[in-house]
Amino acid sequence: MPEILKNAQTQIRFAVDKLGLPKEVYELLKEPQRVLEVSIPVKMDDGTIKTFKGYRAQHNNAVGPYKGGVRFHQSVNLEEVKALSILMTFKCGVVGIPYGGGKGGITVNPLELSLNELEQLARGYIEKTHKYLGDHIDIPAPDVGSNAQIMSWMLDEYERINGYQQPGFITGKPILLGGSLGRTQATGVGIVEIAKCYLEKIGKKAEEASASVQGFGNVGSFTCKSLQDEKIKVVSIAEFYNGKAYAIYKEDGIDVKSLMKFKESNMNLAEFEGVEVIDMDDFWSLDVDLLIPAALENAIDEEIARNIKAKAVIEAANGPTTIEADKIFKERNIFVSPDILTNAGGVTVSYFEWVQNLYGYSWSEERVLNEAKATLRKAFENIWGLYKQHSDISMREAAYMYSIKVVADAMKLRGWY
Ligand code: GLU
Repeated sequence: MPEILKNAQTQIRFAVDKLGLPKEVYELLKEPQRVLEVSIPVKMDDGTIKTFKGYRAQHNNAVGPYKGGVRFHQSVNLEEVKALSILMTFKCGVVGIPYGGGKGGITVNPLELSLNELEQLARGYIEKTHKYLGDHIDIPAPDVGSNAQIMSWMLDEYERINGYQQPGFITGKPILLGGSLGRTQATGVGIVEIAKCYLEKIGKKAEEASASVQGFGNVGSFTCKSLQDEKIKVVSIAEFYNGKAYAIYKEDGIDVKSLMKFKESNMNLAEFEGVEVIDMDDFWSLDVDLLIPAALENAIDEEIARNIKAKAVIEAANGPTTIEADKIFKERNIFVSPDILTNAGGVTVSYFEWVQNLYGYSWSEERVLNEAKATLRKAFENIWGLYKQHSDISMREAAYMYSIKVVADAMKLRGWY
């Protein structure tokens, strides 16, 4: 069983026991309610047909319709998608939005496909799964490797098949097709709001704090930008280029806005002016206030966890910490803000997008981001309160306890146990 699935099940088991819930609750939550595995043929530009594997996992819909992104990445597999759908259920529970968890994925490196091939793949995914999707059934969104253009093709394919418009079927759309202002930057803005909540708790001013961020994709880059907006110094950013991971470093802070501009024409951040290039061992052991993994799962293993000098780990990615690494953080008393709390800003604004679609009205960017920040702040306070109330649990365990209680109560009301 892959680490990320084992990890999620371990957390569920812990929370169910600690809350004194019956074992049926664990049985109901340890696996998704439904998984789909599909084959998607694509006519490649050279005339050959290539078949890709796609997945959708629907974990639990006691609280509301399934909700979650579709990942386009070469390492996607069924077990990973299952685990990520479990995280979505509890992420929605932590922030109190009326969704259950879902997740999808296609095993592909999207950078290797032409636009035409990518469009066929996006449409093919919907063609194979549409019967199980819908604005009150299961609502997809972007994830690693997918974006607003892919959401547009998916929306169009869904509406073509069904013969009517249903913008609330998918979130993360471009504004013109019913997307929400603020959605693109929402996950990053939310992560930094959570980081600020933590800094306030330890009495540290944002202007005096430093951060290092692993990953400069959608989530990583907007996290860095929001850190800069909030005057938190971004001293290092790690990226993957040409099959190799490395990091750039600048003691007095990297100018993130210029770096984002630079990346539009050059993916190799090492060539950005005025930065030093450091290796990953040095990156992980930087003495910063906030270490923010914003790439893929299992990035931080036992060895890295032992060498980390950061005061806190703010999990922007889904599942970036292995079980062993998590134990070490607990032993070493390093604060960890868990993924299901930290990166919930994305799905929160997806919820706002869906609400706007259902009532056919759009909100200002200010309203969207302010409501998202308030939602995350409230969630942080709830989880922090539980964390402090029990002296022996981590923030992650507190987040699972909080969220599992919500889902278990909904399942009880529905008579599932
Ligand atoms: N893929 C994002 C996540 O993992 C967003 C999901 C959504 O907006 O539905 O939270």
